[in-house]
Formats: sequence, structure tokens, C-alpha cells
Amino acid sequence: MNIPKTDLPRVVIIGGGFAGMALARKILKEDMQMVLLDRHNYHTFQPLLYQVSTSGLEPDSIAYPLRKITRSSDKCFFRLAEVTSISPENNTVHTNIGEIIYDYLVIATGSKTNFFGNDSIEEHGMWMKTVPQALNIRSLILENLEQATITEDPEKRKALLNFVLAGAGPTGVELSGAIAELRNHIVPKDYPDLNPNEMHIHLLEGLDRVLPPMSEHASKKAHKMLEELGVKIHLNTMVKNYDGHLVETNTDLAIKTETFIWSAGVTGAPVKGLNASAMVEKANRYDVNAFNQVNGYENIFAIGDIALMKTEEFPKGHPMVAQPAIQQGRHLAKNIKHLIRGENLEPFDYFDKGTMATVGRNRAVVDLHKWKFSGFFAWFVWMFVHLWFLVGFRNRTVTFFNWIYNYINYDKAARLIIRPFKGHEEKMTMDKEKV
Ligand SMILES: Cc1cc2nc3c(=O)[nH]c(=O)nc-3n(C[C@H](O)[C@H](O)[C@H](O)COP(=O)(O)OP(=O)(O)OC[C@H]3O[C@@H](n4cnc5c(N)ncnc54)[C@H](O)[C@@H]3O)c2cc1C
Repeated sequence: MNIPKTDLPRVVIIGGGFAGMALARKILKEDMQMVLLDRHNYHTFQPLLYQVSTSGLEPDSIAYPLRKITRSSDKCFFRLAEVTSISPENNTVHTNIGEIIYDYLVIATGSKTNFFGNDSIEEHGMWMKTVPQALNIRSLILENLEQATITEDPEKRKALLNFVLAGAGPTGVELSGAIAELRNHIVPKDYPDLNPNEMHIHLLEGLDRVLPPMSEHASKKAHKMLEELGVKIHLNTMVKNYDGHLVETNTDLAIKTETFIWSAGVTGAPVKGLNASAMVEKANRYDVNAFNQVNGYENIFAIGDIALMKTEEFPKGHPMVAQPAIQQGRHLAKNIKHLIRGENLEPFDYFDKGTMATVGRNRAVVDLHKWKFSGFFAWFVWMFVHLWFLVGFRNRTVTFFNWIYNYINYDKAARLIIRPFKGHEEKMTMDKEKV
């Protein structure tokens, strides 16, 4: 890997997501050698992926080059590498570009889409964890609108204009709201040959309310806002099969569609090589103690989505969202410094800052500890928080001006088919990591 050997302790971090990046930034200037590995050369701001797939933002506004982090210290290195396994017996990480030995290893590989064993969904559906996947969805939506414009067969046109999403968590809600905005404001202008009333957005949810992880208040408000935008919500409805043309459910509902987006859950994305006792099998996440040490290993840590830390308040682990990942990354930086200095470790304590989701172009729901609110002010808060956490001054500026432009003009600037979506076979090859 062309990393110099030095007398400094070497910390290897797998994954430059929220957790890995938060940790890396805090140990850059410390007396240790840091090696950051990721299969992408950029960090992805996943909360705004849905805006890329619905033409609201360009992908480079939500991605940040990882080398921009490591370049500020000559003790830090980035390598573009797919990690394939770990050999803890000789402190080695194996990758597609070679091996590296660590003194301390931090696994921050995040999560991947959970299909709950349904192969038909994995084979024919779309999902969204990475920028290329969001671009696939953007291309598919725009290609299907183009096709619908020239299709004379009314049944075929109906299927091209039906957009079906499974899973009404924050991603499903945000994505369906954004597609509804596309239908309400863009389609009438860009596709005058199409009747926007023929375009339908269906949101399917297995439970009895939208936004199940949020409060009843947020759920009810988001439900109402989505209906006002024209999204058809089907609760207590689970997808059984999708063959590429027809979505079948556990109820009488069956919908013909050429666009089916799966946003119904994630599971951990671990790396092979650790003992079975290191894992919480059902969750596919590493079992970590209060110091983020993986069960059974003193010098291996896991942070973020991939780590499951059971606490009294969170007996099933922290929610798989950005805040625990960022906070664990920052906290582990302190503990690694303690370790190197031979000091005692400090237990991690999660500070829950609340949750939020946006619905359409100018409304959102926000759950804080004692305060729950929704509507325009909530959207303002949502916008501010997302800009604040978006990495990089350029990204913040571009995103902010894009949002202002979209807001004033009822427009979405990025509706371009740059890389046509060539079909599901290509998707499966491209997304071989299936994240
Ligand atoms: C569509 C979507 C919307 C979301 N919206 C929100 C939201 O609004 N608010 C919120 O708080 N959270 C949201 N989340 C969840 C949030 O993004 C995650 O909780 C967070 O990204 C977890 O951070 P992490 O560092 O653990 O993992 P990630 O950010 O996923 O980073 C993992 C990194 O590891 C790399 N990696 C993985 N495996 C390997 C390997 N084998 N070799 C090399 N590199 C590897 C990946 O390339 C990636 O860069 C959303 C997630 C998605 C998918």
C-alpha cells in the first residue's frame, strides 16, 4: 500500500462515512499514523441522497473528497481500497490493493440495504445507499417520463407513470414527497404531452403509520402533508414480490410499475474475519462495549451504524442515524489517545438531539425532546441543520443557493440523464458491494 513504517502507533480506519470521518478529523494532528481506507474516494452525505435521485441537487454537492481530510497531515494516509477481510491473529487488514498491519483497527463500514431475504426485490427494485445508486434512480425516473411521452399503449403508459416506494421511514417519506413535487411543478412544464394526473405516487408501509421511528405527532402531520401533495399511502401493506413490472403485496393491492424503490430497512455491513462472538447475529452489527471495543478484541473498535452498543436507554443499540455515528467517532478519538498514553478509557454517552424529516419543498416534521413541531418553520430548521452538517464550505454554498433557486422558481435544476440507467443487470454488477 506504500505506507511508510514508523515508530508511531498505526490506527487503521475502515470507512470514511460519518463515523470514520469524525474520528479521522480528531486524530489528524496526534502522535500516531492514521490510514483511512474506503471503497469510494469521497464521503457521502446520505441524508440528501434523495435530492440527487429527484434532480434537486447535483451529486458533487453531497460528496466530499476524503483526501482533503488526510492531506493536512503528513502522518495521515488515504487509500482507495475495498476491504475484503481482517486477520485479527496477526493484526492485518486485507484489501483489493494489498494488506496493511495495524496497531489499532476501527471498523466504520456502516450499513447496507436489507431485503429481508426477498430476492425479487433485490433483483428488480431500486435502492439508495450510494451516489451511483441515487443517480440510477434519477435516470430511471427521467427515462420513464420520456418513455411515457411517446408510448401509445395506455396500459404501458400507466405502468411508466406509477412510482411505487416501499417503506415509509424518513427516506420513503422524503423521496415520495420529492417525486410528488416533481409531478406537481416540473412535469407540467417539461412534459406538456403528459397528463400529470396520470402520474401516481404510491407509498407502501408494513406498519400502521408513516415515520414509525418518530412521534405520533410527526407521523400524523407527515401523513397529512403527503396526502396534500397527492401521495397515495397504503398502510399495513407489505411487498411480497416485484418481477420488474408488477408489485404484489400481502393485501389485494397490486400495482403495475416500472419504478419500484425499496426503502424499507438497513442491516450492518460487517467485514469477514472476526470471531462469531464479535457479532450480534440478528442485527448483523458488531457487539461493542461502552468504549466501542468489539467483543473479544482489545485493539479492534467499531463505530457508527455497524456498532451495536447496548445501554439501559437503548437496549437494542443506538438508532442507525448520523448523530450516534458522529458522536462515537469523536469520542473514540479521545479514547484512542487515552490508550496510547496508557490512561483509562471513558465510556460513551449518547446525546440524542432529536429527529426530523422533510415533506416536499417547504414543510417538515421535527421531534425534539420536549418540543414537536411541523410545517414551514420545521422545514427551516431542517434546512439549517442539514446545511450545518453538510461537509465542506463549497457544498454548503452550492446546496444553499440551489435550494433558494428551487424554492423561488419551483424548479429542479439537475434533471439530466447523464449516465442512462441501462437496466437491472447493470445495477447488480455495478453495485456488487450491495450497499
Ligand atoms: C437514503 C438515506 C437517508 C438517510 N437520512 C438520514 C437522515 O436524514 N438523518 C440521519 O441522521 N441519518 C440518515 N441516514 C442514516 C445515516 O446516513 C447513517 O446512519 C450514517 O451514514 C452512518 O454512518 P457510518 O459512518 O456508520 O456509515 P456510512 O456513512 O454508511 O459510511 C460507511 C463507509 O464505509 C465504506 N465502506 C463500507 N464497507 C467497506 C469496505 N468493505 N471496504 C471499504 N470501504 C467500505 C463506505 O464506502 C462508506 O464510505 C440516512 C441513510 C440513508 C441511506
